[in-house]
Amino acid sequence: MNDLLPCPFCGDKNPQTYSDNFGQFSQIVCADCETETAWYDSEEELVAVWNRRADDESKAQEMRKLLSEFAAFSISDYKTLDKLCKDYLALKKRARTLLTEQPKATGENND
Ligand SMILES: [Zn+2]
Repeated sequence: MNDLLPCPFCGDKNPQTYSDNFGQFSQIVCADCETETAWYDSEEELVAVWNRRADDESKAQEMRKLLSEFAAFSISDYKTLDKLCKDYLALKKRARTLLTEQPKATGENND
């Protein structure tokens, strides 16, 4: 698959494309940071989603904010693996949502 922009979160220049066993759905995964898109049955749409998000500076800013919040956590406050993993997965889910959500309609503003 051509024309994929680098991963917006880690800058990896070699995102991988995977297809399901039936060749019907595909997704793009960053092998470095494991960011992944949803599954799409249209290669054109899949590439557009990956590349569109890569150009979206407001989403990049939001992700920088999320990561800085995560970095500010005191890891020693986590007494259990369960809680640590839950917070990590919640962050990962928010990153994935940023990656795959559709652009906001014109005029919508969540400030
Ligand atoms: Zn990455």
